Amino acid sequence: MSSVHWFRKGLRLHDNPALTDLCQRPGVTGVYPIFILDPFFVEASQTNSPRIGVRRWKFLLECLEDLNVRLKEHDSRLFVLRGNPLKILPKLVKALDAKHLTFEKDTEPYALYRDGEVMKELKDYSCDVASFTSHTLFDPESLLKPPKTDYEKNVWKRGVPPLTYRAFISKALKAESNGDCVPLPIPAPTKIPSAYTSLDNLIEALGSEVAGPNGDFSVPSSEELNLELPSKEEESPHKGGETVALERMDSFLKDKARVINFKKPETAPTAFYPTASTTILSPYLKFGCLSPRLFHQELWAIEKPALKTSSKPPESLRGQLLWREFFYLCGYAVPGFDSMKQNPICLQMEWKCPQKGDSSPHLEAWREGRTGFPWIDAAMTQLRKEGWIHHLARHAVACFLTRGNLYISWERGAEVFEELLLDADWSLNSANWLWLSASAFFTQYFRVYSPIVFPKKTDPDGNYVRHWIPALKHMPTKYIYEPWTAPLDVQRRAKCIIGKDYPRPIVDHAVS
Ligand code: FAD
Repeated sequence: MSSVHWFRKGLRLHDNPALTDLCQRPGVTGVYPIFILDPFFVEASQTNSPRIGVRRWKFLLECLEDLNVRLKEHDSRLFVLRGNPLKILPKLVKALDAKHLTFEKDTEPYALYRDGEVMKELKDYSCDVASFTSHTLFDPESLLKPPKTDYEKNVWKRGVPPLTYRAFISKALKAESNGDCVPLPIPAPTKIPSAYTSLDNLIEALGSEVAGPNGDFSVPSSEELNLELPSKEEESPHKGGETVALERMDSFLKDKARVINFKKPETAPTAFYPTASTTILSPYLKFGCLSPRLFHQELWAIEKPALKTSSKPPESLRGQLLWREFFYLCGYAVPGFDSMKQNPICLQMEWKCPQKGDSSPHLEAWREGRTGFPWIDAAMTQLRKEGWIHHLARHAVACFLTRGNLYISWERGAEVFEELLLDADWSLNSANWLWLSASAFFTQYFRVYSPIVFPKKTDPDGNYVRHWIPALKHMPTKYIYEPWTAPLDVQRRAKCIIGKDYPRPIVDHAVS
């Protein structure tokens, strides 16, 4: 009997309950592990819409290649199908006479719509469709309260979420330290039944375009996707895949003292790969190359015996994973979470560039890292080149764009992050932009990160700026965060004339 496991996120074999469950079902002789290159994502990038930047595409292809290798170790393989899942899946199920379809639950709006439609399309087939929670620690549904008042019923259609981190912790864990409440990961399947039909049969049923240019459902190449990959020197150092994810996690967790004492606000925003001060596991959690439950289990095993002295949520490393969980829950429960107007918990502000597609010279300068504020420009340059920046660097640039200096809508900032981040994640990106713009969760709008004073404390010599902005390499330390104040002869000696080799500041910081 044939069955299908549909990979979307969750690009891993470990802690993949949907896959493991399917492989263990009686009578299943062929499990088809599939990934669908959905035009929703593909066309967006080919029409120059910035939904997915080239580095994230490359990262995804690396994840798929790695998954294929790991499946092959189980005598299986990945089948990559090109096209709309709503059209392809019914054809595939019919062609294989598949009796089961499994996938990981996904709570993002497009995924909820897509999966709902798939279920409808398949309702007349004798195919059992089942989804499993494994992208988050908890199923968001389990943490919502039923709405009681008319207001709650009107606003919280899916249920009422806890709206503070503390309330979330007390609901999910009952106590800050109670990591025992989190569901445990499950092992990878030991065997993946692989009695497959011939590729010709599949191509006949689905159409040759679905099989890709080689006619073998292989992982697409960058040429097939028309991706203009960066040169070797410009490549991101972060490579996709479950194998790298597990190695990275293990390597970070080896230093137990660092894990026990981890306090996020004390980590350095100026440290980057390979000596970053945080895990850089976010891209792997985003694509599901790493299970959050496995990561949690490993962290809890280190923290639990040291509970008296270890750092605690929200600052601890486990606390970071719980931020992820809290924001996923909010993304699922809050209507219009990624917008100002439709979002009931979002402060309504008259931001500049309020509409999708709006642009302005200030927005472009921010995006391209030429605001004239070296701290901001260095972070945006790292983001463009590596697809990852430290949380406090994200704070700095997000505050600068919104309530700090430019008063541009946080939605425009979130769109730029969505394009450039390897870890761009709908729930987490929206939540953090809401936070940083003081639109929701955080209300102390007057606590602004100065792009001059903050880095002077964090990186007094300006090494981070010198690394990412070569034009400022020789600027004396005194002027590194305000190069426009350097006398002309100093600028000449530093081989950096402000306004020529490096831009003048686009706003007067004190005034803005
Ligand atoms: P670590 O400190 O090692 O934390 C471990 C994991 O915990 C992370 O990998 C991540 O999954 C989770 N985590 C940590 N901080 C947060 C947080 N504030 N919110 C939610 N989860 C968190 N993170 C994303 O994964 N995707 C995004 O699209 C994203 N957009 C952001 C936008 C803005 C404006 C800001 C300020 C933050 C954003 N973050 C986002 C959150 C955070 O900056 C990153 O998760 C973190 O920097 C990733 O680095 P790390 O893996 O080394 O984190």
